[in-house]
Amino acid sequence: MKEFLCDFAAADLSAIVSPPYRAKQIFQWVYQRYATNFNEISTLPKELRAALNDRFTLEAVTIAAKQNSADGSVKYLFRLADNHAIEAVLLLMREEQIDEDENVAKQAQYTICVSTQVGCKIGCAFCMTAKGGFTRNLSAGEIVAQVLLIKRDRQMPPEKGLNVVYMGMGEPLDNLDNVAKAIAILSDESGLGISPRRQTLSTSGISPKIVALGKMKLGVLLAISLHAVDDRTRQTLMPINKAYNIESIIAAVKAFPIDLRKRVMFEYLMIKGVNDSIDCAKKLVKLLSGLRAKVNLIAFNPHEAAVFESPDRVAVESFQRFLLDRGLLCVVRKSRGLDIDAACGQLRERLGEQARAL
Ligand code: SF4
Repeated sequence: MKEFLCDFAAADLSAIVSPPYRAKQIFQWVYQRYATNFNEISTLPKELRAALNDRFTLEAVTIAAKQNSADGSVKYLFRLADNHAIEAVLLLMREEQIDEDENVAKQAQYTICVSTQVGCKIGCAFCMTAKGGFTRNLSAGEIVAQVLLIKRDRQMPPEKGLNVVYMGMGEPLDNLDNVAKAIAILSDESGLGISPRRQTLSTSGISPKIVALGKMKLGVLLAISLHAVDDRTRQTLMPINKAYNIESIIAAVKAFPIDLRKRVMFEYLMIKGVNDSIDCAKKLVKLLSGLRAKVNLIAFNPHEAAVFESPDRVAVESFQRFLLDRGLLCVVRKSRGLDIDAACGQLRERLGEQARAL
């Protein structure tokens, strides 16, 4: 079976191709000029193109389906070489703004949310991906390809900056080596050039792996899926809390190297009657005191198999106001793509066997 070119960092490739500077050219053609075939790389000698064709493929990940949302988000379903399916979402964070002279005043801003595993072992109670169990880790290239294929599909100018969040299917820290490699490949200036400071790794809170990630000094941003302020509630939502409780997560975050201009994001999924009270908000302020933290409140978006309910709008507003009044930065994340299956695992589940067989 051919090797997937996206699994190779430019440094690895330069040890394979001769002369080594050809690796940079290959990166530029694949990641910036969106070549889909080595024969397109006209600056390479014919023999090298043939050798690349013999050894590598560029098609280990392909787009199997897309869903457009009215708010500009697009959900992608990808097919892997072994026929498994994964998802990524292109989120429109800010629309293009045109001034009165019809010039672009502000560019559109995008974030791509990528998957890191086929399925997931963590088993969060509110998650659709968890229902399908765990199949396998994604390779670094399979993670990188989600960004490349979306940029290529949209024909985005190569210099178009975007953010990447590791928040799709899977627990990134359960696949740390491949995720770390993907972060490095995505940030390579001769490729997609997405700085680690524009990449956010979101974890369910595997404390020792947060420490290990910090020691790697990748410069990547960190987000913690906290979702509850006491271990008892968190355990019912996230069984992983039995192994790594809230205290251990906060200790690991304290040891994590944070860029002084940045903050650690704490994701807090608000669920009606579970964690949406002002008492919870009080505990959250106490828990995060002394940390460079930002809270991202997300109103639960019910899926078909959900046993939980969305919080009332007033409860979300009061919760946010309480945090802000006490100096804790807090935003309410807009539920983008509500008219598509936006939560992780939903598109894959909806298309079910059909998606897996595509
Ligand atoms: S929310 Fe994330 S970590 Fe939890 S089961 Fe779903 S994919 Fe896994």
